[in-house]
Amino acid sequence: MSVDANCIFCKIVAGQIPSRKVFEDEDLFAFHDIAPWAPVHFLIIPKLHIPSMAHVGPEHASLLGKIMTLAPKLALEQGCNPYPQGGFRIVTNTGAEGGQEVHHLHVHVMGGPRPWLRG
Ligand code: AMP
Repeated sequence: MSVDANCIFCKIVAGQIPSRKVFEDEDLFAFHDIAPWAPVHFLIIPKLHIPSMAHVGPEHASLLGKIMTLAPKLALEQGCNPYPQGGFRIVTNTGAEGGQEVHHLHVHVMGGPRPWLRG
């Protein structure tokens, strides 16, 4: 399914729920997390509704590659300090025991000076 009408992140992509957009292209959307753990905390999501990392297959390799190569670029643009003194954390929670709350695949990108609220 490309879009799930009940999915909060699909609604964000569609503009039906407001977000603070960081980036958009034909495949991806990135926006600031509503409850940030760190001075910089945004999410990168595929526009395609993939529920979690447990649902990815070889057909998603290029999409996941796009997410992972975009993350460092956006991290710097959003105020993360440069590697190695700075850096960032990339997290993808998967399933209930993995701490996933929103079931649309997303990558958290967190960074900025410590201490952080969490993480
Ligand atoms: P996870 O536990 O990995 O599923 O994380 C879901 C994340 O989505 C949490 O960090 C939430 O703060 C964030 N979140 C939920 N709703 C929104 C929203 N409307 N706009 C931005 N971030 C959101």
